[in-house]
Amino acid sequence: MTTYKILIGGKWVSSGSGETFPSLNPATEQILGRFQSGDQNDINLAVSAAEQAFDEWNSLPAPKRGQILLRAASLLKESKEALAKLVSTEMGKVLPEARGDVQEAIDITEYMAGEGRRLFGHTTSSELRDKFCMTIRRPIGVCGLITPWNFPIAIPAWKLMPALICGNTVVLKPASDTPLCAIKFLEILQKAGLPPGVLNLVTGSGEQAGLPLVKHKSVRCISFTGSRDTGLQITKEAGIKKIGLELGGKNGIIVLEDADLNLAIDGVIWGGYGTTGQRCTAASRVIVQQSIKERFEKLLSQKVSKLRLGSGLDPKTDVGPLINKKAIEKTQAYVDIGQKEGAKLLYGGNPLKGKGFFHHPTLFTNVTYDMRIAQEEIFGPVVCIISVKDLAEAIEAINSVEYGLSSSIYTSSIRSAFKAIEGIEAGLTYVNSSTIGSEAHLPFGGVKQTGSGREAGILGIDEFSETKTVYFDYSGKLQKAQIDTG
Ligand code: NDP
Repeated sequence: MTTYKILIGGKWVSSGSGETFPSLNPATEQILGRFQSGDQNDINLAVSAAEQAFDEWNSLPAPKRGQILLRAASLLKESKEALAKLVSTEMGKVLPEARGDVQEAIDITEYMAGEGRRLFGHTTSSELRDKFCMTIRRPIGVCGLITPWNFPIAIPAWKLMPALICGNTVVLKPASDTPLCAIKFLEILQKAGLPPGVLNLVTGSGEQAGLPLVKHKSVRCISFTGSRDTGLQITKEAGIKKIGLELGGKNGIIVLEDADLNLAIDGVIWGGYGTTGQRCTAASRVIVQQSIKERFEKLLSQKVSKLRLGSGLDPKTDVGPLINKKAIEKTQAYVDIGQKEGAKLLYGGNPLKGKGFFHHPTLFTNVTYDMRIAQEEIFGPVVCIISVKDLAEAIEAINSVEYGLSSSIYTSSIRSAFKAIEGIEAGLTYVNSSTIGSEAHLPFGGVKQTGSGREAGILGIDEFSETKTVYFDYSGKLQKAQIDTG
């Protein structure tokens, strides 16, 4: 059994803690390796390595940093299949989705490499004569990146690439359920030519490794994706730092009576059961117009009953395992809650016996939007059907949750589509498409309890840079803004 190390200052080393933890294949429960239980001391060393590497990395012209990222993208393309198989093995998602996970990383790496030749600021007029005004981007400093297991390559890439192109150095703390993906990903980035210390990796628990990173005084920025509770703790513990939070959702798909029903059902299957419901953008609520409820339920149940559970590596599998035993227990607890609340179970509702963390795709109907199963993030293969009388009530239902990440509406009416775009409180709205499937050059993030900030696209650059305002006075005399009015 291989024991993997952590990356500090360009060297793979053991944690000072002397302790390790295992990572499991969620389909077989087989141990894939042992990983360092990093702690405060390792974080201190990693942050210090990142601080030391900062000046040189930051002074390298951004287009040159971009060239290193382009090499990384090309190495990622060469390793795409191997990495995808690893994602499927360690995280559990089906292979086509695992390939998508790696492709997202390639896309963001190429996009951010190109940003090295832009990193635009603004120039504007001055209220005074002979004065020039502009904004430029500066790096923030050492960035702490804390990532979840559901996109074990894509999410680290979404944070790393903008951080690096902006000239920051980084300490990454990946999820303890997918440390091997993070290690293999970083090995590739190292090969692309990142100087030692620019990129550091400490595996270990959230409490022992994550929290010290969050609290560290020399860390100037924390970018976090994960649960709302952890996000809340981070905001309390981080002190004064730039913080980006992506904390999940309780996303809804609205299906109106004028929708293409088959298209909508395909979207619900993909949004609700893709990645076994373990996406922050998963469609866990379907808000259906009353007039088509019965037909919709029948068609959807038929499709759900055909979904095949199994290992993500098996090409016949539609729905892979959940990430771990705790996720099975959480899903099961919500199935019980739903039944006690009076929702009607149309399909599934139970885990699979035997090895692996499998849970049947589950479908509830007669759900009212105040029920806990319609309000709380389950992060499992559970979809709730809520019926409403019209679009106005559908928008009220979709907005009734604390989160606001993704949303969707199926309709053939342009008016209804635009009313939904205006009325839905969410960072993303899809029209006649599912709640999932973001693209690297567009901003991603949410409103309300989903968090703050936007990743990817040009706004992803804002997350990892500071704006400096520059006033350049070439009048040769003292000019006073707001006072010299002539
Ligand atoms: P967590 O928020 O616990 O974990 C996400 C990351 O934060 C992991 O790297 C974790 O480390 C780390 N972490 C945990 N506690 C702390 C802490 N106190 N300080 C700093 N870092 C910390 O999410 P889980 O993986 O436990 O998943 C639980 C729930 O979170 C899911 O059921 C789902 O609702 C939501 N979630 C949302 C995601 C999204 O995409 N928005 C992604 C994943 C989960 P470690 O792995 O070592 O615990």
